[in-house]
Amino acid sequence: MEPKSSHILIVDDDEFIRDMLSARLTFWGYQLTTASGGGEALQLLQQERFDLILLDIMMPVVDGFEVLRQLKLANNSIPVVVMSAQSEQKSVIECIQLGAEDYLSKPIAKEILRARIAASLEKKYFRDAQQTWLEELNLLQQIEQELNTTLNRAEVSHLTLKWVVQKTAALAGFVGSVEGDFLRLRAVHGLKQKVGNALALATVAVDAAQRNITQTPVPENGRLHSQATHRIILPIVRNTNIHDMVVLDLPAPVPDTTIRFLRYLSTHIAIALHNAQLYADVRRANETKSNFVAMVSHELKNPLTAIQSYTYLLNHYMSQLSPEKQLEYLDIIANGAEHIHNLALELDDITQIETGQFRLKIANIAFPQVLADVLKLLDPQINERKQTIKLNIPQELPLVQADAKRLGQILTNLISNASKYTPESGRITVSARLMADELKEMLQVNVQDTGIGIAPEDKPKIFSEFFRADDPQVSKIRGTGLGLNITQKLVELQGGEIGFTSKYSSGSTFYFTIPVVAAKETAVTAVVQPVA
Ligand code: ADP
Repeated sequence: MEPKSSHILIVDDDEFIRDMLSARLTFWGYQLTTASGGGEALQLLQQERFDLILLDIMMPVVDGFEVLRQLKLANNSIPVVVMSAQSEQKSVIECIQLGAEDYLSKPIAKEILRARIAASLEKKYFRDAQQTWLEELNLLQQIEQELNTTLNRAEVSHLTLKWVVQKTAALAGFVGSVEGDFLRLRAVHGLKQKVGNALALATVAVDAAQRNITQTPVPENGRLHSQATHRIILPIVRNTNIHDMVVLDLPAPVPDTTIRFLRYLSTHIAIALHNAQLYADVRRANETKSNFVAMVSHELKNPLTAIQSYTYLLNHYMSQLSPEKQLEYLDIIANGAEHIHNLALELDDITQIETGQFRLKIANIAFPQVLADVLKLLDPQINERKQTIKLNIPQELPLVQADAKRLGQILTNLISNASKYTPESGRITVSARLMADELKEMLQVNVQDTGIGIAPEDKPKIFSEFFRADDPQVSKIRGTGLGLNITQKLVELQGGEIGFTSKYSSGSTFYFTIPVVAAKETAVTAVVQPVA
């Protein structure tokens, strides 16, 4: 409150002095109430809030001393300026000992009156501000302590909302985390409308929010509560990004001091939410790692059991086994060993990629050459399955920016999968075309097959580690379920994207992009020819 608009209580049994003081103080802009004696003053003090008392000392029945004593007893720290005659200097000293802030000698000179009142009020507001600040610091400390007791995001959101509602007397509100253009509600208070409605509103809030706290009249068509008049939007900012948002609908605007408090509080909330987020991430990462280890050991078990069992059979029953059986068992052992070997290679790739030790040798390379090398390697597999391979590669292609070995690995995985998951006599088509990305030209490579396709429920899992479709047509074929996961990482590491379309029982098309070297003169002629 401005000192000028302060409310002053004048207590004097002399009507003339009361009127004279009232007239002056009203003229200076103060709000006034008068009392003709100490008893009336004490009564008024119980009913109303005053910023200053001008108190006559010598009054009949209840005098100024008694008023001061009662104020002291009630622990009321309202400033009191006592008014005394020149002859009452001793009384003034006693009043000051009783807690009076200052004194005025009667007759009161106009300018001294004005100066003393102003000075007393200044001091009062300074003290009040300090007091508020101390209380806020205490409260902040209390909130921080409570926020520090949990690393659970939902709990942090609920605690946050509890405190800000308490501080602002909000009728309704919510805490939400910003996810793109939307807010995910984390905690709600007093919402009369359906949560869906609040979510729509929240989107508005995201749009409206600046990096700073705002208090505005609540929009007519978007109230969270029918009696709300004002809305506070408190963005929770970390590293200049808005991560969360507190939206509060209030019955009346809150003062600047509350806004300032909320601004301070938001930095504490940001830290608590960040810690909770980090904790959740670490837990998730731990879970992923545990699952990964469990899956690896599971994947190792089958081939190892096969190797152990068939080695035992060969060891103990060699003489009773026909040469064909012996060869068959050796084949099973070799297959098991190859499976473990492949798994080890793939795990090595994954570890290197995840620990950031994976080094790519990016160079300007001719895609058709890499494709030709891959097809030569896969030729026996494709021939054995009597599959045809069709190529649709433009004659002139610019060089691509890629690691030749890793581009070969991507192509091998996709073409080998197309062959593995396509019945005998099926067709595989590899095509390439140039396309313009937002920033640069890309080469898009498609590997299409006429195979078993991917069931709709499997589509979201296809690039996950160890995923293999639960389908006899898949389980009869050897595989680790790591190929596509690695392929995706390799494509993305080289600046491209990977995806697929598939129709169950009809076939799939896997596609990926790879950056192209911009200059025209790098164009090379396709050197790859269909194998079959
Ligand atoms: P793997 O082939 O070793 O099982 P991948 O990660 O390469 O591992 O593939 C994961 C799974 O995705 C396969 O087990 C299969 O179920 C499915 N899949 C991959 N490519 C195809 C394809 N071209 N057609 C149908 N299913 C496929």
